[in-house]
Parts: sequence; structure tokens; C-alpha cells
Amino acid sequence: MPELKLEPMTMPKPDVLSVANLPPFLTEPLKAACTLHQRLHETDPAAFAKVAPHIRAIAASGESKVGAELMDRLPALEIISVMGVGYDGIDVAAAKARGVVVTHTPGVLNDDVADLAIALMLAWARQIVRADRFIRAGQWPTGPLPLGRKVSGARLGIVGMGRIGQAIAQRASAFGMAIAYTARSARAGVAHRYLPSAAALAAESDFLVVITPGGAGTRKLIDAAVLKALGPQGCVINVARGSVIDEAALIDALRAGTIAGAALDVFEDEPNVPQALREMDNVVLAPHIGSATAQTRRAMADLAFANLNAQLSGQPLHTPVPECQ
Ligand code: NAP
Repeated sequence: MPELKLEPMTMPKPDVLSVANLPPFLTEPLKAACTLHQRLHETDPAAFAKVAPHIRAIAASGESKVGAELMDRLPALEIISVMGVGYDGIDVAAAKARGVVVTHTPGVLNDDVADLAIALMLAWARQIVRADRFIRAGQWPTGPLPLGRKVSGARLGIVGMGRIGQAIAQRASAFGMAIAYTARSARAGVAHRYLPSAAALAAESDFLVVITPGGAGTRKLIDAAVLKALGPQGCVINVARGSVIDEAALIDALRAGTIAGAALDVFEDEPNVPQALREMDNVVLAPHIGSATAQTRRAMADLAFANLNAQLSGQPLHTPVPECQ
């Protein structure tokens, strides 16, 4: 009798759709474990139509938008794994209605975002960007840079005292700042003074750092009235989402001197930044780099991959968003 040779059983690799420009340290493990379709829905709709029924997972970034329309085309979808803590671009209600779980990457980016908030505050107050331009333009011999603002000992208001807000407070404490905060409710275990609204907090702050989630609940939370309360010596620092500040009101307030300045990592219509902001000297701008260090992006990628892998192999999820817990 000839020996019976069995072919090894090969499980088909799960199909995964990437909807963002993800870094290689996420796409490489995805390619090894799955069949990865990188933005196929945008680049090749005909090819996408063929694979769509088989797609079991979406890999997204914190800025990705995933709505019900895309989910409707993916009947086998099980998970949307976001590489980022903010998931305001994902229609979580639509996902839940279809039995799809949403995961994100909280915690691993707290240090970086808090570091950037402090860096932006210092850059604005101590005019780091302006000072650099001053030297490069050969202006030092012709006169001193105008005086900056003292940060140590100043009053810091934090809008959103969650994971990152608390990391910002920890750093600001080392600068001897007087810290207060607002959120929808006072947070147990946080010793800093709680104020019930952003306007009340702004009225008692020199620097107002915004670090809430984006989405409908916080849209234009920082409006003309809050900026007026912050006052002509005040500076607003936004590391949350562009949607949390009324950008048109911010531009008006900066133009009119209603507030002294702004330091912004996030914008309403990224990557488009209004020309008015780009032309202002009393504004420091950054291109959404809160978590953008090699170390943190890798940690975020590892957690995003671990969530996706857990779902597709029937294991418990590591960090589902609160609505999916
Ligand atoms: P978190 O732990 O969930 O904290 C969010 C805080 O915002 C909580 O204190 C929450 O308190 C408060 N909040 C929520 N809705 C509010 C509202 N309507 N009014 C006032 N306060 C409100 O989140 P996290 O991990 O600190 O992250 C916060 C956000 O930072 C993310 O969602 C993301 O948008 C942003 N982020 C930006 C970058 C960047 O690159 N710039 C990077 C990472 C994260 P209550 O629930 O008591 O209101």
C-alpha cells in the first residue's frame, strides 16, 4: 500500500481592510497574519467589491472615519481596531448595531501627549519658535526679542481630567502651577480644584489646556464665551481634537486680542490649517503630533494588533472602547 500523504491543513488568512496610512510596524505584522487590503475601498472599488464580503476586520487610525455606509458593505466585519485613543471618527453605535466591536489604544500614549501639551505651552510662552526664526533671520544684532511670559507658578486650567489630563497635571505640578480642571463631573481621587464649566475655568486660568475626546459631546465646547472668559492675557492650548474649539471664534478672538495666543496640535479640517492662523505671530502650530514618537507609535501599533489578533482568534479583547465593554 502506498503511504497516504496528507496535505497540511491551511487555514485561510483573514481579510483585513486598512482605512488609514498605518506605519510599517503595524502593517508588517498584519501582512504576516492576514491578507491586508490597504485602502482598497478608495484605490480600487472593483477589486474591493470582490473582497468586501470576506473582510473580518478594519485597521484604522485615530483620525479615520468609518461610518455605517462602509460597514454595510462588510457583512463579515467583526472588529474595528483603532490605533489611537480617540475614536470620534468611528460610528460606534452603527458598529454595535451590527455586532462589530471597536477597540482603541488608551494609556500607552499618555506621556507623549502630556509632554507635547507642556512643550506647546512653553513654546508659546517662551517664544521658542519666534526666537529660532529671529536668529535665523539675522535679527539678533538689531535688538532683543520682546519679553515672554512666565510659566512656572502660573494658573493652569485643564479641560478634561482623564488619563492624559492627569499626566499633564502631574507635569505642571513640577512647574509649581496652580492647577484647576473641568469635566462633566468631578473626578474621584483628583485633588485639583474642580470648576463646573469651561467658562468658569477659563476665567481663572492663564493657560487653558484642552484634552477631552472629540465628537458630538464636545463640539465647540471652547466657544467665543469661553475665550472671552480666558481674557486678553490668556493662552489656549489644544491637544484634543480640532472640533472641540470653535475655530472661527478662535481666529476672531486672536485677531481682536480677546485672548493673547494659542498653541494648537489639532484643527477642524486636518491637514488644512486656516491661512489666518498660519499668518499669526501669537500662535504656535503643530501637525497633530501628540503621540508621534517612534516609541509610542510602536506601542500603539502593538496594542492595535493585539486587539485585532485577539478578536480573530477568539480571545478576550485587550482594550475595547467603553461603549463596547
Ligand atoms: P479619557 O481618559 O477618556 O479622558 C477624557 C476626559 O474628558 C475625562 O476627564 C472626561 O470626563 C472629559 N470629558 C468628556 N466629555 C466631556 C465634555 N462633554 N465636557 C467636559 N469634559 C468632558 O481620555 P484620554 O485618554 O485622556 O484622551 C483624551 C483625548 O485626547 C482623546 O479622546 C483624543 O481625542 C485626544 N488625543 C489627542 C492626541 C493628539 O495627538 N493630539 C493624542 C491622543 C489623544 P467626564 O467623563 O467626567 O466628562
